[in-house]
Amino acid sequence: MKRKKKRLSTLVRVLLCSWCVLGLVLAFFVIDWAMNLQGPEELAGSGSVDTLAKVTGEADPTRPVTPTEVPEATAPAATTVPMPKAEFVTEYAHMGEAVERYGYMDKVTYGLRYPHREDAAEESEADRIVQELLSEKLAEFSKDAGELGILLIDYEDGETTGLYSVLFYVEWEIDGVKETETRLWLYNKKKGETVDGTELFADRAYTYVAQQVNRLLAEEATSGTSEEGIDNKTLVQKSEGPFSGTREEFAEYVLTADGAKFYYETDGKRQSIVIPYIALHTYMAVTENGTVVADSIRELDPDKPMIALTFDDGPNDKQTPRLLEILEKNNARATFFVLGDRVLWGPANKNTLKMVYESGNEVASHTYSHKKLKELSVEGITEEIVKARDAVYSVIGEYPTLIRPPYGGYNDLVKEYSYAPLITWNLDSEDWKSRDAQKVVDQVLKEARDGNIVLMHDIHWFTVDAAEVLIPALMERGYQIVTVQELFHYKNVELENGRVYHSSYN
Ligand code: ZN
Repeated sequence: MKRKKKRLSTLVRVLLCSWCVLGLVLAFFVIDWAMNLQGPEELAGSGSVDTLAKVTGEADPTRPVTPTEVPEATAPAATTVPMPKAEFVTEYAHMGEAVERYGYMDKVTYGLRYPHREDAAEESEADRIVQELLSEKLAEFSKDAGELGILLIDYEDGETTGLYSVLFYVEWEIDGVKETETRLWLYNKKKGETVDGTELFADRAYTYVAQQVNRLLAEEATSGTSEEGIDNKTLVQKSEGPFSGTREEFAEYVLTADGAKFYYETDGKRQSIVIPYIALHTYMAVTENGTVVADSIRELDPDKPMIALTFDDGPNDKQTPRLLEILEKNNARATFFVLGDRVLWGPANKNTLKMVYESGNEVASHTYSHKKLKELSVEGITEEIVKARDAVYSVIGEYPTLIRPPYGGYNDLVKEYSYAPLITWNLDSEDWKSRDAQKVVDQVLKEARDGNIVLMHDIHWFTVDAAEVLIPALMERGYQIVTVQELFHYKNVELENGRVYHSSYN
């Protein structure tokens, strides 16, 4: 009896123990399953049970995009449906802190990473964008998902002085089928608003990017064959390349401090190229400094004639402010092609340039020190262009888009290395020759036509005297006095780097 009793109690103990283990295992699965049960509406809510972690982004941007691995299914004990886990596999380049969240909704398990921003307005806009993206994708996938799906949203970001850019990578797997798409978000930090990423660059920017990529690919293709006697340079120049320059080819980009990083696909491989902003500036609706180009274009009558008065060789702290007053009084605007070294001359000239910019007139470049560009090497040309750009930027916080080469002189090198439309003139006021206000007025009135670009100099008192009479006289004849940008805008001419323009009808 005693032995029997003992045997029984051992059996009971064994049975009890296995129930305990089973119970623990069940409890574990139930808790794990419950942890994954939250909708996206809880995303930003405090006290929600979704997992949240901040990840510092020191990721390797060169790592290829790999499809999400399917993790081992963790099934809740109560059901027979496998519950996949969302796990990030690819590491993208995050600039600062990333917020990480996990959740589950309508048959879709998701993992989400998005940027944490210091600026409160930026942060809340980023939250809004990411919420929208998540809700949209969850709605889309839960409809499609027959069984269970995994959704991962990660991102790569970059920023310039005025713009912040995020390229979201949306990766999902439904019923064993994996897919990826990207979504671009651009934010103008200066204006505090979201920018349409498809509208940032004009068509010509994509043409330029395609040319650069084609050149790169041709160089790569020919680099190994030089010993066979093929002239690489000729091949490169002749090569048309696979890219034609459509928006679709370069729809994915990130704005980095060094330039716009465009992604493209070649031979099934994803690659990227960084284009410096100096080459894209002319084609940007919002500059890398957050200036909205359209903001400087006034509402004008496109059917009425226009003339662009342009003033070279300034700024001049005596004459330029006088001219600004005359322009203001007449509700007219002009373009000032300033010299970089004069801009930096002293506080008075710097202040004058600021006044020009803040009054809504156009600041453009007349190079740094008025050298004959035609006589310079590539290095010499580049120095004159870049130093002038930097001088203007140091004062007004924006780069000039247009360049007037000194003496109106240029050659192919100047065109190529200016990275700007070259604006000359088709009406010379001859102020430098006559040095007489009345003669300047007569000369311009005699030659005035719609679309003219007029050459003048705001360093001379007689030119400013002339402007006082000339501007109202032109307006009486029906002309609108406009900046060069306004003129080309209303005449529907898309300016192109390396091209020379004498007037709106050339
Ligand atoms: Zn000049």
